Amino acid sequence: MNEKHYDYFVIGAGSGGVRSARIAAAYGAHVGIAEGAALGGTCVNLGCVPKKLLAYGSDYAAHFEDSRGYGWSPPEKINFSWKTLISNKNKEIERLNSIYQTALEKPGVEIIRGFARFLSANKITVNNDIITADKFLIATGGLPRIPGIPGGELMATSDDVFHWPDLPKHVVIQGGGYIGVEFAHILHGLGAHVILLHRGDLLLRGFDQDLREALGTEMLKQGIDLRLACDIEKVEKNGPRYSVYTTTGDIIECDKALAAIGRIPNTSALGLECADVKTTSKGQIVINDDYQTSQSHIYALGDVANRHNLTPVAIREGHVLADRLFGGNPEQRVNYENIATAVFSNPPLSTVGLTEEEASEKGYAVKIYKSSFKPMKHTISQRDERALMKMVVDAKTDKILGLHMMGMDAPEIMQGFAVALNCGATKADFDRTMPMHPTAAEEFVTMR
Ligand code: NDP
Repeated sequence: MNEKHYDYFVIGAGSGGVRSARIAAAYGAHVGIAEGAALGGTCVNLGCVPKKLLAYGSDYAAHFEDSRGYGWSPPEKINFSWKTLISNKNKEIERLNSIYQTALEKPGVEIIRGFARFLSANKITVNNDIITADKFLIATGGLPRIPGIPGGELMATSDDVFHWPDLPKHVVIQGGGYIGVEFAHILHGLGAHVILLHRGDLLLRGFDQDLREALGTEMLKQGIDLRLACDIEKVEKNGPRYSVYTTTGDIIECDKALAAIGRIPNTSALGLECADVKTTSKGQIVINDDYQTSQSHIYALGDVANRHNLTPVAIREGHVLADRLFGGNPEQRVNYENIATAVFSNPPLSTVGLTEEEASEKGYAVKIYKSSFKPMKHTISQRDERALMKMVVDAKTDKILGLHMMGMDAPEIMQGFAVALNCGATKADFDRTMPMHPTAAEEFVTMR
């Protein structure tokens, strides 16, 4: 049994933990990090990155179809190999894992491969080693939530999809949030028959109402069997297949039943009770504005604290915490205003700032500008797909409160406009900006 002491010991080498560890080490701190799974955490291994690669793969189905109007004649039957896609995705992830390893090792972070557990507020154990530190950071992220329905444990989660040996023919997805919608797009595009069950009346709670409606319409047009106000009551295993019993009385036979009903903080094996670190009834670690837990030398950030569960937020939080603790910059703060976010559906959806509903709830008198159109690409491709762009403006100050878009390249477009919103741009600022023609993005500066 070894005993080691660090200035800063980080638990979890995901987005937030890796950034915080390597920045702290670059400032000269003696830093260790424990990770029992692959380096890079959910984003790199089981989330953003592999998901986007699969989404790119899925998009080809539409590209092949769309190319006909442009004079191409792709064969009627184009073969797709799930095994090739997964194998190439795995190679790319391995490449990223090694980049993360180098990023940690270069400034001198000691990587300990194993899961950490608190023995007391000042001591943890990893692989039977005893580790003490002046400061600890818990950055263990989240895990998919397993539905508490009969047979819920039989359902797959997004973690599993990335390692399925084959593409299932028939998939039922539960949950109309980010993951449910994105995987419906991915699996449908790659050739699976997808039934998406969502308990609510509209997909993607928290997004702009018009976009939520418009995306549902597009998904149905494409052939995704979207069933709103419909949930799963129970799941049974039926040989190699599954029987999914819905709340509307249907029994659906499928090859895979995928639960996408949210994620929970990953704390259960941390021994937080031994360190007296407080959690809420939902398991999230309670932190103050300085990322301190109920033990002032133990910090937590990212999804494990369950505030803004997005990779870039965890990265920024990890960086700022290292700046504050070791970089002589104790006043450094994360700007949580105008966090742009995207759903990689088809068409994708992206948003920054307030929705119309949020703006009204906050007491703003709002002016709404909207544009719904057939994207130029689809005039010739003949694809029946529309784009929707929407701007929410404070009628009193002319300040732009929110921008929302469903359409090709929406996430790429919105990242740029997020800067404008953070600078406090007004509608007049947008109006005096010369449009770039022909683009979809120009709609945002030509709205009347
Ligand atoms: P979300 O919170 O986005 O969506 C969960 C969905 O499941 C909602 O439609 C919700 O319905 C439904 N739901 C919740 N509980 C139940 C239940 N008990 N029974 C039936 N339905 C239920 O979670 P996801 O799992 O989709 O994603 C987790 C998080 O990961 C996201 O919130 C996001 O922070 C992050 N993420 C971000 C991505 C991105 O940036 N592109 C991509 C993927 C994930 P209701 O609306 O009625 O509550």
